[in-house]
Parts: sequence; C-alpha cells; structure tokens
Amino acid sequence: MPDDVSKPRHDYRFATQMSHAGRAGTHAHGFVNPAVHRGSTVLHPDCESRRSFAKDRYNRVMTYGTQGGPTHYALEDVICDIEGGTRCTLVGTGLAAVTVPLMAYLKAGDHCLMPDSVYGPGRNIANGLLAAYGVETTFYAPAIDEAGIAALMKPNTKVVYTESPGSHTFELQDVPALARVAHARGAKVLMDNTWGIHHFMPFKHGVDVSIQALTKYVGGHSDVLLGSITTNTEEDFAIVRGAASQMGHFAAPDDCWLALRGARTMAVRLKQQEQSGLAVARWFESRPEVQRVLHPGLPSHPQHALFKRDFTGSCSLFGVVFQPRYTEAEIFRFIDSLALFGIGASWGGYESLALPTTGFITRTATSPDLGGFTVRIHIGLEDVADLIADLEHGLATLPK
Ligand SMILES: *Cc1c(COP(=O)(O)O)cnc(C)c1O
Repeated sequence: MPDDVSKPRHDYRFATQMSHAGRAGTHAHGFVNPAVHRGSTVLHPDCESRRSFAKDRYNRVMTYGTQGGPTHYALEDVICDIEGGTRCTLVGTGLAAVTVPLMAYLKAGDHCLMPDSVYGPGRNIANGLLAAYGVETTFYAPAIDEAGIAALMKPNTKVVYTESPGSHTFELQDVPALARVAHARGAKVLMDNTWGIHHFMPFKHGVDVSIQALTKYVGGHSDVLLGSITTNTEEDFAIVRGAASQMGHFAAPDDCWLALRGARTMAVRLKQQEQSGLAVARWFESRPEVQRVLHPGLPSHPQHALFKRDFTGSCSLFGVVFQPRYTEAEIFRFIDSLALFGIGASWGGYESLALPTTGFITRTATSPDLGGFTVRIHIGLEDVADLIADLEHGLATLPK
C-alpha cells in the first residue's frame, strides 16, 4: 500500500506530466484511472502494524480517513507537478487554501503584508479572525517595488502574501523582489497562484507556499470546489499540514477524483483558453466602446515586461474597462444581452463568463477607480468567432 504513490516528475514536460502524474502503481487492477477511495476507518492487519504505522517515502500514513488516502495522494502528486513543488496539502475549497497557511504562519503579535488587490475573502480573514487573534495586517499597493515593501516590513512581519495578478484588477507583482526582502527579514512568502497556474512557477521565484483554487482550471468544469497548498520543503509542508489537520480540514475523495480527471486535459485546455482569451482581449482593445483592457499578456499592460520576465503564458481571465460615458445600467444591458456568456463568479471552466466588477472591489491602500465601468471576462472553450459575434451584438446595445 505505501508504494502506490508516484514521485512527482518535474523532468517531463507539462502535457506529459498531466497525462501520467499520480498514476504509477496505483493498484487499480490495471484500470487507467486511480480509484476513488472513500472512507473513515482504515483497517490494519494486526496490532503491531497498527502501532508502527506503515509510511510511504513521503511519510504519508493511511491511518484514518482525515489523513488522506490513495485518491488524495494521486492528486497531491499531480499538483506538485503543476506547481513545481514537492509536497501538497489538499483542502475543501480554494478559500481554505488561502486561510490555512495564514493561520499556520501567523500568531498573536505578528504582522502580515497583503496586496490591496487580494482575493476578497483573503481580506476578510485578515480583518476578521486574524485581527481578532491579534495579528495586524497592512495592505500594500500591488505593484510596489523592493524598496517600497522593505519600508513596510516590521520586525514582527512574518508573512508577505502575494497574488499576481489580482483577479479583478490584474496588477502584477514583482514576486522575486518581494521574496528577497521577505527572506532577508525572516518572513515567509505565500502566494495565491490561481491565475498563474503553471504559467508562473512559484518556487523558482522565491515563493515558500503556493495556493491554488483547484476549483478553477484544474477542476475545469465548474462542478467541484477544492484547494491545494503546495510547498517546496518538508519544513514548510509540516507547518501547513499540521495546521490543516489541527483545524480538521479535508478534501472529499470524490472531489479529488473529479480534479484528477480535470487535470488530465488541463494542458490542452490552458493552451486553447490562453489563445482564445488573448484573441478576445485584443478584439476588445480594438473597440471604440472600450477604454482599456486589463490583461498582463497584452503589450498594452503597464507591467507587460514583468509578465514576459516571469510568466510563460496567461490564463483566460481579464478585465475590460469601458469608456467613462457609459452608465451602470447600459453596461448591465450589454451583459444581459449576451447569449454565450454566463453572469457569475468563479472561472477556469469550459464556459465563458462576464461579471460586472465595479462596486465589488474593496481597496484601502490604492484607488478602486479604474476610470470606467469594469467587466471581468472569462473565456471558455467555445469557438472564438462565436464569442466575438455575441460580444459584437451586445456592444450594439450601447448608445453611440
Ligand atoms: C476562486 C478563488 C479562490 C477561492 O476558491 P474557492 O474554491 O472558490 O473557495 C481563491 N483565490 C482566487 C484568486 C480565486 O479566484
């Protein structure tokens, strides 16, 4: 049993990893896919083996359902390949993947730095539970430079949290520069890498703990909620895993199985969605109704040079800032008129989405005003020509 784990293989290319990771020797009676192992009780052949707990090469022990089982291990290995890390902890949502490492690395009297562009519920835990437990958080301008972040560091700063780009405003962060400052002062770098999935390799850029909402591109079909916390060292893994198990976090095996299935096609989906996303973003840029498009992969993005330095590609989520002359009601009518774009939160699925974001963005260190009404676009796997025709039809509802 302990050997039914494949080692992450960073030497294969991405598409190969996504086809093969987490499958070697999975004791699935020859079936291609790892089985779903649901369960609480784990039976032991005798009392002695119960006492000594058989361990695999990563010290993983199957003693009780909450400790995880073969389905979890298979997905953990896939995520390690996606992120370029060595150990992974799975939790029930992307949000739990945000909160668990924050709770793990911060204690009363500590200070945390968080980007003003952080995913909203990340701000909520900083201002909620963390504040109640005596942790102070300072929100910083996302595009801050090395000297700027150094000036915000305090002797008790234990975490520099990053998210690049922010998933509503798409500012990039100079993660290697932030990591240099953090590490020089003994702080850990946590990163929500959901947008950068596989296009940004966190551990090559100084990140200690990488967070993924597997709900997005790994799941890929808008039918599962799941999160991962990946580390590159055993020390960090022990801290994260310890916190997750103390708080009783768990990921349902059925959801892990769905994420494994999603991961098998993720390399091709990401490639297609990158191309389609860029095509639609460029089309928006060409339209007179649009003031600017917030997409790090476009040369017009103010931090495109940073994007080219650190990212190997982009995902299919971006923002569109309309001309300031349009009212909210007019933009709502445009969105409502679209046939192929759903109106809803989340992203990374096979279906396209359009979400009004103006009025939903909280900022305390920088201005939330992007100069015009803003709509977040997620591009799915539909044909780009159909998507553009739908958008063109929608824009025709706007007054000239
Ligand atoms: C969706 C999302 C999360 C949270 O994931 P859930 O599974 O929905 O809880 C975290 N970070 C970012 C950037 C996200 O977009």
